[in-house]
Amino acid sequence: MTTQSAPQTVPKTEFSAKSDYIVAKFGGTSVANFEAMSRCSEIIVADKSVRIVAVSASAGVTNHLVALCKSSITPEQRQEHIDGVLAIQHAILDELSLDADLAVGFNETLKAFQTLALETLTTDQQHDELLSFGERLSSYLFAQVLRLKGLNADRFDVRKVLKTDSQFGKATPNVKATAQAAKEVLIPLLDEQVIVTQGFVGSDEFGQTTTLGRGGSDYSAALLAEAINAKSVHIWTDVVGIFSTDPRLCAKATPIARLSFDEAAEMATFGAKVLHPATILPASRSHINVFVGSSREPERGGTWIEREKSQQPGIRAVTQRKNQILLTLKSPEMLLASGFLARVFTILSEFNISVDLVTTSEISVAITLDNAPNASRPELEQACLDKLAEFCHVSVENNLTLVALIGSEIQLRQHEMNLMNVLKEFNIRLICHGASKHNLCFLVEQGESDNVVQAIHSRLLEV
Ligand code: ASP
Ligand code: MG
Repeated sequence: MTTQSAPQTVPKTEFSAKSDYIVAKFGGTSVANFEAMSRCSEIIVADKSVRIVAVSASAGVTNHLVALCKSSITPEQRQEHIDGVLAIQHAILDELSLDADLAVGFNETLKAFQTLALETLTTDQQHDELLSFGERLSSYLFAQVLRLKGLNADRFDVRKVLKTDSQFGKATPNVKATAQAAKEVLIPLLDEQVIVTQGFVGSDEFGQTTTLGRGGSDYSAALLAEAINAKSVHIWTDVVGIFSTDPRLCAKATPIARLSFDEAAEMATFGAKVLHPATILPASRSHINVFVGSSREPERGGTWIEREKSQQPGIRAVTQRKNQILLTLKSPEMLLASGFLARVFTILSEFNISVDLVTTSEISVAITLDNAPNASRPELEQACLDKLAEFCHVSVENNLTLVALIGSEIQLRQHEMNLMNVLKEFNIRLICHGASKHNLCFLVEQGESDNVVQAIHSRLLEV
């Protein structure tokens, strides 16, 4: 559930004739170094329909950039993080010589990064400017790697088309403005060229750089696919699709061949790390199929996310999301009065807070929020808590994990005994079921959550 933005309408006529174009997105590990980039370039060479390539920053770069935004950083730490970014870029450059046009842009961008990184940056706008450098740099290098393979590739500044509001750090895209800009300056290029552009980055109506939030490159790829009316978007990452649970946790986890948009959206939202949760939104509203596969092993296939329902009802996956905040708000005076929830949610939405689970009683409401590590902004600001405290008692609990069972037509009845047998061994803090047939969620102590997931996977999914 999100309080972030109202659903956007997209002109319907655009859907009628889909182009044959595919947008491919390569994540940080896929563009971590020259060798990884070369592997990805083979994927593009093999599929002539791939016309837009959205890249992440090379692995590690965005974490350095996030660290450089912190005001508490010492001059030594600052230098270490700058050097960290430069080392990653130079290791790739050592294997590559840039054509003059790309070299000019790359060198200017690198210089601009070094200048800005030395400054103390205090505003969210400045932070987004700095955070954007990872993708801006990797896109030059990747364009050159594609040229080495004989492709007519060019680098394109995504800020010309990916238009957003001015919510720095977690900007909301403007779908109409993006489609319009794509029509004018991007689509005309695609017949001739493979365009390499940046994930994660956008620009507001004043031309200031914005970002879509950590992991936002997947979302960018889906938004670009929507803007050019692509037939599909391919997300190339370091795993062979979306698994029934994290394979590092359960050796018997299996990749899922097909998921519906609804299931995939729930999985991404509730912790399957493979996709940014918002990615499915543009894909599902514009009927664009999404593929998720490994750029290391493209031949192994991956997961297709499509409009069709998955073949069978039932539980398909169990996910977990650590570092959850449980916010409990109580207001005894509100007994039998109305408007309490409206007031709470108005404030949460003023602070652009995205709420996941909600349970209520007559005089209280419990809400979970995601406190993602390495986020470029904290989810819950003190100013928000202060505002809530004006009319209710506020309690905040940390160190919780949200565990979600994901699937189709999940009915507690079918799984009751197994599930209850698993859960009775653990301390369950809150349960949510009923609003969607695609999930059943609960909160557990963070220290126990790996065990909870393993127990659920083995008793409900390995049958
Ligand atoms: N580079 C950004 C991040 O690490 C965006 C992305 O890779 O999707 O969060
Ligand atoms: Mg990612």
